[in-house]
Amino acid sequence: MTSGLHPALSPEQEHALGVLSGASRVLLTGHERPDGDCIGAQAALSRVLESLGKQVTILNPDPPEVRFAQLTRAVAYGVDDGGAVPPHDLLVLLDGSELSRTGRLAERFEAAPSRKLVIDHHILPPDRWWDACFHDVTASATGVLVARIAEALGVELDEVAAQGVFTSIVTDTGWFKYSNTDAETLSVAGHLVQRGVDIAGQFMDLNQRRPADHPVELGRLLARTEYFAGGRVALLTLPLGTDGRVPEMDTDDALDVVRSVDGVEVVLFVREIHPGLCKLSARSKTSFDVASLARTFGGGGHRKASGATLEGELADSARRVVQLAVQQLGS
Ligand code: 5GP
Ligand code: MN
Repeated sequence: MTSGLHPALSPEQEHALGVLSGASRVLLTGHERPDGDCIGAQAALSRVLESLGKQVTILNPDPPEVRFAQLTRAVAYGVDDGGAVPPHDLLVLLDGSELSRTGRLAERFEAAPSRKLVIDHHILPPDRWWDACFHDVTASATGVLVARIAEALGVELDEVAAQGVFTSIVTDTGWFKYSNTDAETLSVAGHLVQRGVDIAGQFMDLNQRRPADHPVELGRLLARTEYFAGGRVALLTLPLGTDGRVPEMDTDDALDVVRSVDGVEVVLFVREIHPGLCKLSARSKTSFDVASLARTFGGGGHRKASGATLEGELADSARRVVQLAVQQLGS
């Protein structure tokens, strides 16, 4: 029986569902610097599986941002301390499909004698290393896939799970602004509101509790905007702070401003995360495929939102990315 909120499952998704149903000790993991989609989907899946009597633990490579505390406090959220991974019979990777995206955890996961399941909405790598995969590149967020799984398992989302899926959706659709927002996304969101999600409260918690220096930091970053290819490519760069730390900055806040400029087609945000190591976030306003751009640098993502980790100094990394984007845009 279906509610009409979601599309029918594919045979591969049915197989993934069987693998999930058959497990009793499940370990959930996600990508480095987990975002709201990753954490929201994990929190939701954790509650769904617990309601079925399974033992569920979350182990991520990095701690969550404080704004996700309501979710992470409600589930068994753990951060890698370099030690042994907890015993489990199924490892589930959410919001990514390459084990390398779990950073230092990847080696231990690989060595674990568990079955492996991927739940993701990004383009998959050619190497299918998993036992099962619940995947749909058209899903706006991994949280939407968890909502599909819950429905297929006959589990109603509880308050935490509903908040998790909502966090996933608003993170990955930019609060329903981006082109991945579709009818399923809006139907699911409507259902979540019926389940008690407080939209204004969520907006307050997720996006309206920035530190006092946020406007100054954002202004400083935006003041460094550079344009290339006659204004079709915009570049933002953010070096490490003078204290050697990564400045707190929500990538999407900055990207949204630059993306709003008329004529800009591609926005590239390169931020230094360690000396000699940078993180790229790329966004496209047109059919230009930034996932393909990111893959050139070993990253990935979606056609309109992608990322990669770049080795090299900030200025050099930025120059390489801009050069390729300008070249791929053509004239
Ligand atoms: P963001 O710029 O918000 O970090 O990421 C945008 C999109 O690109 C997300 O869907 C994210 O999963 C993907 N992405 C970001 N960084 C990487 C990366 O290093 N590797 C891969 N494969 N995807 C990435
Ligand atoms: Mn996602």
